[in-house]
Amino acid sequence: DPGSAEFFQATKKIHNLLQGADGSLSRDELDAYYGCIEDVSREMDRDGLTADVWVLHDPQLLPLARLLRQDLQAAWLWVCHIDLTAPNGQVLSELMPLVQHYDHLLFSQESYVPAQLNGNVPVDISPPAIDPLSVKNTPLPEDRAQEIVAAMGIDPGRPLISQVSRFDLWKDPWGVIDTFRAARESVPGLQLALLGLSQATDDPEALEVLSSVACHAAGDPDIHLYHDPSGIPASIDLVVNAFQVASSALLQKSTREGFGLTVTEAMWKGKPMIG
Ligand code: UDP
Repeated sequence: DPGSAEFFQATKKIHNLLQGADGSLSRDELDAYYGCIEDVSREMDRDGLTADVWVLHDPQLLPLARLLRQDLQAAWLWVCHIDLTAPNGQVLSELMPLVQHYDHLLFSQESYVPAQLNGNVPVDISPPAIDPLSVKNTPLPEDRAQEIVAAMGIDPGRPLISQVSRFDLWKDPWGVIDTFRAARESVPGLQLALLGLSQATDDPEALEVLSSVACHAAGDPDIHLYHDPSGIPASIDLVVNAFQVASSALLQKSTREGFGLTVTEAMWKGKPMIG
């Protein structure tokens, strides 16, 4: 994992700009982005890494195909998980030429395919799917689910709603809290869980979002924010399953969303999901 802090800051910004955030990329940020990928490509070259099929995800590694495509036998696929319905023009124009070096592109939805592609590279639509046989999605008895959430501070005698999501700008955790406060007026005793245990290590923004959300929660004892996976009473997958089973309804208040696996996860458990 050779990524530097500057690389992850630049790629997080690229991600946010592509999803429609305001701003622009500086020359230094672009240099950090391309510089790190060049280092990675040199290392891969040196280690003699080969493959029949390369599958690269999201903008972080996008420039790699241009640098490593000497092996003409291998197939190169780029999978874009980002909502590209309102992208920043500067970043899109910077990145789109890089897709020419791929054999095939995959997007989650038709509406995410940028018009600038002009049909130059074959595109497929492939919505992500959940694994119904994983611990996160196999049937969990209600009483076991209640036991797990109770061990994490939830009162099993009162109703619970949850959003299972990283602490991220685009998941609108602040709006979830506002929604909870409105719902509590007609459902006394309602509790809210924001479950963000799976912090991506390449996400430098998560802690800032978390502290701003904690501020918005203003110490309300019925708003539970979970971010630290150490000391939880079961594996992360089992805890996610338990919150989805123990909640009366699940929320996914995203304002942009690559796909939203949590929506499928809740529906798979037969739960009402408000998105
Ligand atoms: N997730 C998890 N632990 C958490 C929060 C989320 O394992 O505390 C999982 C969630 O169950 C889902 C995935 O992270 O499988 C998030 O995928 P999604 O497409 O909903 O959003 P993304 O984070 O990829 O934008």
